[in-house]
Amino acid sequence: MAIAPFVDGYDQLILDLDGCVYVGEESTPGAVETLDELRGAGKRIAFVTNDPRRSGEEYVRKLWGLGIRASLADVVTVGGAMQHLLAETRTGRTAFVIGTAAMCRHVADAGLKLLNGTDLASRADVVVVAGTDDLVYDDLRNAVLSVRRGAELLGTSRDPTYPMPDGLWPGTGALLAAVEYGSGAQATIVGKPEPGLIRTALERLGAGRTLVVGDRLDADVAAAARAGLDAALVLSGGTTAAEAEAADDPRPLVVAENLATLALRQG
Ligand SMILES: [Mg+2]
Repeated sequence: MAIAPFVDGYDQLILDLDGCVYVGEESTPGAVETLDELRGAGKRIAFVTNDPRRSGEEYVRKLWGLGIRASLADVVTVGGAMQHLLAETRTGRTAFVIGTAAMCRHVADAGLKLLNGTDLASRADVVVVAGTDDLVYDDLRNAVLSVRRGAELLGTSRDPTYPMPDGLWPGTGALLAAVEYGSGAQATIVGKPEPGLIRTALERLGAGRTLVVGDRLDADVAAAARAGLDAALVLSGGTTAAEAEAADDPRPLVVAENLATLALRQG
């Protein structure tokens, strides 16, 4: 199979994971073969994800489990970006985290003192909100109390949902909305649509004509626009054909059913 002419015009691709490369525990149709073809044709590939629930190592393992080669350097995660930001500017402060163990490790590794599980959890200097499947009311209360007492509020993204085989599940943005509504504060966002993840991926890939591919207009396509890169939208995740059709600003260059139909010559 040959690479589709549109994609062949690029030297390298920055691919969103959730909804683009896989949905839940399944790769999207043809994604594994497509990545083999792209790499075989000499295209450089980086993966970026707004999903804060896993560490970089866990994403590498997940990709290998699906049959996709990946190294730690190939995967740019929002958890890593959050750690980088905190380590540069907020070392030594206290933090309360709504998120998984992986996100708590990122925050601790950045040099902040984690208050989760202590009597001081509602008096943190910094509140980090990231997606998790394990949310309890105490977390919302500690986050809201800390922010109302002056803590800075950081979120990994505002993604309202993430795609799963049975539909769209509530994402980081749904949790963050509860903390913002309760506290009256607005979070600073680290992940897409902010361009940081895309820029990090670009630094690792090096110079070249670059295409960003993702399943969300408000995250992937918007982040590509802010980084000054071309974007393609796939409909295998969180966006419907009607929503893609109505897209105005930002607008993807191309809309495709999935990564395979975007990247491989059809017929
Ligand atoms: Mg996605």
